[in-house]
Amino acid sequence: MTSPKGSVDVDILIVGAGPVGLYGAYYAGFRGLSVALIDSLPEAGGQVTAMYPEKLLFDVGGFPAIKGRDLVSNLVAQAAPFEPTYLLDEQAAKLERIPADGDGPDTLLVTASSGRTISARAVIISSGIGTFTPRPLPNGVAYENKGLAYFVPELAPYADKDVVIVGGGDSAFDWALALAPLARSVYLVHRRDKFRAHAHSVSLVENTTVQILVNAQVKEILGTDAVEGVDIAITGQEDVLRLPCHNIIAALGFTANLGPLLEWGLDIQHHRHIPVDSAMRTAQPGIFAAGDIAEYDGKVRLISVGFGEIATAVCNAAHAMDPSMSVFPGHSSDLPAAVPADAALPADAAVPAA
Ligand SMILES: Cc1cc2nc3c(=O)[nH]c(=O)nc-3n(C[C@H](O)[C@H](O)[C@H](O)COP(=O)(O)OP(=O)(O)OC[C@H]3O[C@@H](n4cnc5c(N)ncnc54)[C@H](O)[C@@H]3O)c2cc1C
Repeated sequence: MTSPKGSVDVDILIVGAGPVGLYGAYYAGFRGLSVALIDSLPEAGGQVTAMYPEKLLFDVGGFPAIKGRDLVSNLVAQAAPFEPTYLLDEQAAKLERIPADGDGPDTLLVTASSGRTISARAVIISSGIGTFTPRPLPNGVAYENKGLAYFVPELAPYADKDVVIVGGGDSAFDWALALAPLARSVYLVHRRDKFRAHAHSVSLVENTTVQILVNAQVKEILGTDAVEGVDIAITGQEDVLRLPCHNIIAALGFTANLGPLLEWGLDIQHHRHIPVDSAMRTAQPGIFAAGDIAEYDGKVRLISVGFGEIATAVCNAAHAMDPSMSVFPGHSSDLPAAVPADAALPADAAVPAA
């Protein structure tokens, strides 16, 4: 439902395409509502994609164990038949309310960082811990997208490449483990001699071909148009170590903040959480919240809990925008038309990326 000008008009806008927002897209489609998801990251999946796509999750109902990356692609596949509009690499910046002309809900007009506007009858905020910004690699700016990356949406581009991973946390070790069998060489460079990553991940990587350099830092990136090598300074060694390198993955962590959402007139607690009632309503009519950002007594911040919350939010939003729609959706197993007959098979759905 994107117009030529890029503005979007939908029943429900979901702010945040993390696991919870993605499940909300399915649920909105299931309820017959049009839906758009906006995310400031270039790829769907929220914390799962950004921080632990290669890790196994053991606490998602129905999956004894599932890799983060696979969970996200299953969620995308589940929503795909309803053709949600993905607005990636765009932050939801401004909110305006256009009062209803008589009965019916107000129109909520959200302006994205790109300048695009999204008009919706309800907004569900599933923005987790906020907009993630990767911690930059010092002196790396000129090489961003020219061999230096902060996210690894796909492993294939690293096949047969010389890769240097910078960092000592879980993401750095997860990438090292995933790329070891694929890349021509993998160095993991960390400025200390202790790691934040789990000991188990460290010992898995130690048993691969990955070369770990501790007390080491990228001193200079080499290359004219793209990364061609790196000079590594190692504490106590006079000479730098020059490594051939096509790709640098800087896994130095992320900062996250709610940024513009703080100006939306919501009752945001401690700059991080939005209180909701049992229907996942915020204090603002037409605006709901679910997932990590939603707060109530007894809250448990888990993906499985967020799934239930956003189903509740969608069903209550549906009822609020059209009182003839009941809050209870019926059982999907009772509804043969729950997925359109010409729906793409789940396996056809690629994880959207900007
Ligand atoms: C290392 C690690 C391991 C974990 N393991 C598990 C586990 O095993 N089981 C489990 O249940 N949970 C686990 N979690 C927690 C789980 O990842 C979170 O509970 C879950 O991601 C929350 O989902 P969400 O969709 O609410 O938010 P998020 O995943 O945080 O997604 C929110 C999205 O909103 C976007 N966003 C924010 N503000 C804006 C804006 N203004 N405009 C546009 N986009 C915006 C962000 O970019 C982000 O993509 C783990 C977390 C970490 C860090």
